[in-house]
Amino acid sequence: MGKPDGCGSLYLVATPIGNLEDMTYRAVRMLRECDIIAAEDTRQTRKLLSHFEISPSLLFSYHEHNKAASGPELIRYIIEGKNLALVSDAGLPAISDPGADLVALAISHGIPVIPVPGANAALSALIASGLPTDSFTFAGFLPREKKDIRARLGELRSDQSTLLFYESPHRVAKTLALLLETFGNRRVTLARELTKRYEEFVRGTMEEALAWLEEHPPLGEYVVVVEGQSREEAEKAESAWWREMDIAGHVAHYEAEGMPRKEAMKKAAQDRGMAKRDIYNALLE
Ligand code: SAM
Repeated sequence: MGKPDGCGSLYLVATPIGNLEDMTYRAVRMLRECDIIAAEDTRQTRKLLSHFEISPSLLFSYHEHNKAASGPELIRYIIEGKNLALVSDAGLPAISDPGADLVALAISHGIPVIPVPGANAALSALIASGLPTDSFTFAGFLPREKKDIRARLGELRSDQSTLLFYESPHRVAKTLALLLETFGNRRVTLARELTKRYEEFVRGTMEEALAWLEEHPPLGEYVVVVEGQSREEAEKAESAWWREMDIAGHVAHYEAEGMPRKEAMKKAAQDRGMAKRDIYNALLE
């Protein structure tokens, strides 16, 4: 689709993830020059703008709960010729926030979309993690429901790239425990409060990181960087004796070895990186 006549542009403007010195000169200029700023949390953005002495002509709210109505309205403004800067609470807009929907809408209307790059929590954690950076998968936030989390982790288990997760302090230990259960005791880096005063990296195995969290109750924001599946792990999974079996056959095999049914189900769940409950449900089908 061609650019509509007289139409403005959508600028995706990065803001700091903690340290205000990470604001770029270009970001400040864009926020000064754009006709409209759309922000996830206008209160938060007002603080940032006042720090950099930027007085926006128009500050709009654009977040998960109003995006259906707010998105088309913002697009109308751009088509009418206004330049719009989209900012998120922190870091790059459109990464784990509703910005990606606005970008898709803008593109479908032929609106130019221009990134103004800067700080990002996932990549900052990755580069300092000590884990391979040549290939990585950004997994963002895991789903809320335990069954959906397990399904997602099941998909990610065979990914050989370094995995990046976003996590809140009250869920980080639970998530790590599920990661340990699904992936085994891989290497992990917990990156906490990046660019802030209490920035901290915990590097070790998942078991070590869990023990650390017990001693140091989680505080602040986390990125969890997880080692991808190793070649040996992949080969082991590839050549696993149970690979061609269905779940019932897998469980029956252990029972035939004299294992009680419950134990056999647990063992099969471990082999397959599945929840015991899912094995149980599969046997009921
Ligand atoms: N758009 C942001 C970016 O580019 O990184 C991410 C926004 S997402 C809604 C918020 C999550 O990012 C937090 O829950 C946390 O996992 C991660 N995060 C943001 N700032 C962080 C920081 N300073 N240190 C560690 N993690 C951070």
